[in-house]
Amino acid sequence: MQGAYAVSIAVLIVAAGRGTRAGGDVPKQYARIGDGPVYCRTIAAFAVLEEISAVQVVIRDGDDGIYWQGLLEAEFTPAQREKIRIPAIGGDTRQSSVFKGLLALASDPPGTPCPKPDLVLIHDAARPFVSAETIRAVIAALGTSPGAIAAVPLADTLKMASDRRTIARTVDRAGLWRAQTPQGFRFDDIFAAHGRAAAAGLKDFTDDSAVAEWAGLDVALVADTPDNSKITTASDLADAERRLAMTTTMEPRTGTGFDVHRFAPGDSVWLCGVEIPHEARLDGHSDADVGLHALTDAILGALGDGDIGQHFPPSDMRWKGAASHVFLADAARRVAERGGRISNVDVTLLCEAPKISPHRDAMRAAIAEILKLDVARVGVKATTTEGLGFTGRREGIAAMASATVMLPA
Ligand code: MG
Repeated sequence: MQGAYAVSIAVLIVAAGRGTRAGGDVPKQYARIGDGPVYCRTIAAFAVLEEISAVQVVIRDGDDGIYWQGLLEAEFTPAQREKIRIPAIGGDTRQSSVFKGLLALASDPPGTPCPKPDLVLIHDAARPFVSAETIRAVIAALGTSPGAIAAVPLADTLKMASDRRTIARTVDRAGLWRAQTPQGFRFDDIFAAHGRAAAAGLKDFTDDSAVAEWAGLDVALVADTPDNSKITTASDLADAERRLAMTTTMEPRTGTGFDVHRFAPGDSVWLCGVEIPHEARLDGHSDADVGLHALTDAILGALGDGDIGQHFPPSDMRWKGAASHVFLADAARRVAERGGRISNVDVTLLCEAPKISPHRDAMRAAIAEILKLDVARVGVKATTTEGLGFTGRREGIAAMASATVMLPA
C-alpha cells in the first residue's frame, strides 16, 4: 500500500486509558459493542482506507492479552492486518502515551523496515464511529495547515457556575468548538512538539492540538458530527449498541433440516426436548431426539455451517447418550457468534404415535428456552403419514424443520 500515495499516513490509536466509567470490568475501549470490542471497530475504520498505510495502537502495560485476543478474533483482510503494527506500551498520561506511540512510529518495527510516516492522525480508541469523510477531511486540511482536528461547533448555551452552583453568567458560545479526534499533523512537527513538551516537564495536555498550540503550530478546525463522540459512560455504551443495531443491515437466511430415528425396545421417547412415555424408545447415539436434531440442522443450514454430524460426530464417545439440547444450544451460539439472531423456527414431526398435541406446548417452551427465543417464534406440529411408509408402519419417527436466521449482510 505504501508508495501508492504521494505522502504516507499513519494513524496512532490511543487505547491506553484505564477508563472504567462505562462500568464492567474492562476499560471502555475493550468493551464489546455489536460483534466485537470497541477498539477493533476503531482500528477497522482506519485500516479499510487505502490512504492509511500504518496503524499504531498504544495500549496500557498489562493489556497485551486482551488486546491480542480481540485483534486475532476480528475480521480483518490480510491487507488490513498487514498495516497493524505491534502495539506500543503507553505511559501515565494520555500525553505520554501519544509520545510513546510517536516514538514507535519513528522507529522500524522488528524485522520490517518501515519509514516514519509523513502525516500522522492521532485518534481515541473510544471513538469507533469516526467516518471516512471525517478522516479524509482532516487529511485534506493537512494539505494547507500543519495541524487539523475534527471538532463540533457548540450548539448548547454555556453557563459559568458560581461557587453555590448557580449561574454566574452565560458564556458566549460564538466561535466555540468541541475538540474530537482524529487530530492530524505533519509527523515531524508533532513529534518534535511532544518531545519538547516532555523535555520541559509538561505532561498534562489533554489532547494533541493543545501540544501543537503550545508549540506554536497552526491547527485548522474541520467540522465533524456528534456521531463521532467518545464512549465514556455506560449510557454511551448502550447508545453505541443501539446505533449499531440500527445501522447494521441484517438479511434473512433460511435453512432446513431432516432426521429419522428408528424405534428400539424401551418405554419413552425424547421429542423436541420433552420425554414422552411410549411403548418404545428411539435408537441413536445421543438421546435420539429427532426433532431437535432436525432443528439443529436447520439452523446450521441457515448459517451455511455444516451439519450436526460434522460438529458432533457419532464416532466421538463424548456424545454417547448426550441430551440433544447441547447440539441445539451450540447452533444458537454459532448464530450469536456471527452477530445474528434467530427469527423463527418450525418443526414438523412425522409419526403415527405417540400423540404429539398434548405435548406441543411443552415442546415449544423447551425449544424457546434452549434458543432463548420468545415462544411465539417457535412452531411445533405433527402429522401421521396415513399408515404409509416406515413411519406409517411405526418403525421410527421422522422430523423436518426450518429456521430463519437474521445475519449481518
Ligand atoms: Mg439424529
